[in-house]
Amino acid sequence: MSTLAAVSPGMQVELAPEQREAQRIFRGWVDEHVVPHAERWDRDGAIDRSLIDELRRRRWLGAPVAAEAGGGGMDLVTYGLLTEELGRGCSSVRSLLTVHDMAALSVARWGSPELRDEMLAPLARGEVLGALGLSEPNVGSDAARVETVARKQGDGYVLDGHKKWMTFGQVADCFLVLAQLEGAATAFLVPTDAPGFSRSAQEPPAGTRASLLAELHLDGCAVAARHRLGRVGFGFSHVISSALDHGRYSVAWGSVGIAQACLEACLDYTAERRQGGKLLREHQLVQQMLTEMIANSRAARLLCCRAGHLRRTGDPGATAETMIAKYFASRTATAAARDAIQLHGANGLTDAYPVGRYLRDSLVTEIIEGSTQIQQISIPLMVPADL
Ligand SMILES: Cc1cc2nc3c(=O)[nH]c(=O)nc-3n(C[C@H](O)[C@H](O)[C@H](O)COP(=O)(O)OP(=O)(O)OC[C@H]3O[C@@H](n4cnc5c(N)ncnc54)[C@H](O)[C@@H]3O)c2cc1C
Repeated sequence: MSTLAAVSPGMQVELAPEQREAQRIFRGWVDEHVVPHAERWDRDGAIDRSLIDELRRRRWLGAPVAAEAGGGGMDLVTYGLLTEELGRGCSSVRSLLTVHDMAALSVARWGSPELRDEMLAPLARGEVLGALGLSEPNVGSDAARVETVARKQGDGYVLDGHKKWMTFGQVADCFLVLAQLEGAATAFLVPTDAPGFSRSAQEPPAGTRASLLAELHLDGCAVAARHRLGRVGFGFSHVISSALDHGRYSVAWGSVGIAQACLEACLDYTAERRQGGKLLREHQLVQQMLTEMIANSRAARLLCCRAGHLRRTGDPGATAETMIAKYFASRTATAAARDAIQLHGANGLTDAYPVGRYLRDSLVTEIIEGSTQIQQISIPLMVPADL
């Protein structure tokens, strides 16, 4: 696997020794604990709950939250490597980290001192599971226009609305929810024991089938004043935007993982199957497809490394570079998965090989955290031509 990381914009160097060692550990762990079970989880529509305990025990839930706040304090490129490996093994597992860390980082950044005292350390250690409660039956890409409403009541707030597509919503303990408070988009952290909160399991979709999706029903759901995140009216522009920025970083790396998994599956398959008197990988048209996979997955990884470096240094261009990384990596994953099925022939369309799952999971990466089309209309507005 490529081990290039960016240390400054446009410059690539080898990973630091400790990052390389972390990558080795992540890879070995995923090969042992995730890869052998991923097909079953996909079929069953659920990961094993014991895996969540193990991720918690390893401090991989909340890994990017600062160590002073109780989190793993993991540097962002190392976190990317972890996310890539989890994405290589099972996109549903990767998606757990994505949404949990979106919620934990939001509390760290936007929570009131009282909320941080109450929730940050447990979230940062993964003892309390967080998730993202943004989308609704009528609201997806245009997320600032959620229909869920909040109103002030006494010292706190009451929320009414219906949320859909919550990743790991069946098991999360709290949700980062966007609602309209007197017409101004405002964010809240809604705990699942709040009065008026209920949830129902959703049927597993075609991709990331094991991610325990849920719908949320907020019927006069009462939360304390300290559960508001950020200022009134800053819910989308600041709180959700920064959460989605992290989510895109995570999905970008997870997409690299899918592309890498496709490549590895194809290298194995084409080295074993013979047609026309030689191994598949000895046919030039097959080599061309493998080369596309190799070059594009490396390019995607480098874009992710560059975004990670810019994020770590607090560069103002980090959000735009993260969008580019997510855009390129998710499309790379989809293209690699389609080619992987093609290279497996009819076998690629059966459950005997994982490439069908890779395609279904890759399609999700082009929809969530801002679809491919939303990136296409956003990136030109954010990135100066001379970068
Ligand atoms: C597996 C899975 C997990 C998810 N997990 C979560 C979660 O944890 N929390 C959560 O809040 N949500 C979650 N979602 C929902 C996800 O965020 C939305 O699906 C996403 O925002 C897209 O919204 P939509 O599906 O309603 O599509 P729509 O917004 O209706 O878009 C439909 C199509 O129109 C295109 N389109 C939309 N607007 C424009 C435009 N302005 N210009 C050009 N094209 C446009 C889109 O790109 C897309 O192709 C999840 C979805 C899936 C599939």
